[in-house]
Amino acid sequence: MTRIVDSKAALRAALAPARRRGESIGFVPTMGSLHAGHRSLVERARAECDLVVASIFVNPTQFDRSEDLAAYPRDLEGDRAILAEAGCDWLFTTSPEAMYPAGFDSWVEVGGGLDEHLCGATRPGHFRGVTTVVAKLFHIVGPDRAYFGEKDFQQLAIIEQMCRDLDFPLEVIPCPTVREPDGLALSSRNRLLPPEARARAIALPQSLSAAARAYAAGQREAASVLGALRKSLESAGGRIDYAEAVDARSLAPREQLNDHTVLALAVFFGEVRLIDNHRLARPFPEVR
Ligand code: AMP
Repeated sequence: MTRIVDSKAALRAALAPARRRGESIGFVPTMGSLHAGHRSLVERARAECDLVVASIFVNPTQFDRSEDLAAYPRDLEGDRAILAEAGCDWLFTTSPEAMYPAGFDSWVEVGGGLDEHLCGATRPGHFRGVTTVVAKLFHIVGPDRAYFGEKDFQQLAIIEQMCRDLDFPLEVIPCPTVREPDGLALSSRNRLLPPEARARAIALPQSLSAAARAYAAGQREAASVLGALRKSLESAGGRIDYAEAVDARSLAPREQLNDHTVLALAVFFGEVRLIDNHRLARPFPEVR
């Protein structure tokens, strides 16, 4: 059974007995509208921790466009059912007023240029919003392990850096991207895609899969691989926000591909912006 708590004090009180007993706490922060990708994070936490906590908070400080915040899908009842099935013990829900009361003005910003490329280049302030809310949630929950999806690999790299730099006493656990049978990465935003755009969006995994094959066949020129990738996304009607080859840790662009390179994409299909990525050290999953 998943119990819901909607205040910081109630959550701390709920977790205190387990903490006193020395039980481990696994934490999965989300913005709700849950799907099998989120479920895989909760299941992993369930397998590795004594107590599993998830949070649902549509964090206003990480949205750079108010239309996106307003349009973000919400479905608390559906979410609760998924969390219960996956074995989540506690669901923490909260409100913008509780997280950012009047006078709030402290922010967590990760340096090193990690937020300058990729999503950071076109979404000013986004990662500052993410790191600030994740730091707050880490303080509220006090987890031993926190689970994040590799689908948002820039977010993951930035949170790992934040935890290293600020001595958060927890382990960040990266979890593989869960995909639809046709390869499209699961995302809450997929629900916003009209059917024809949903059909065209399979160009994302298909182009990454083709790039993975080119790399496996010995291609090492980023420009050539990215050129082919852009072409196939554009011929599917995608409007490219970025398509880049970057180092997995520094996120700096790379001209030569190697096993530490990640191909990262953000593409609009209609009004909906989708992201995906592939780490070249791994095989790309089968695409139907
Ligand atoms: P969100 O609710 O979109 O903020 O996502 C919450 C967490 O779920 C983040 O750590 C995401 O990276 C992760 N996540 C989202 N989609 C997927 C997916 N398709 N596979 C695995 N993890 C995911």
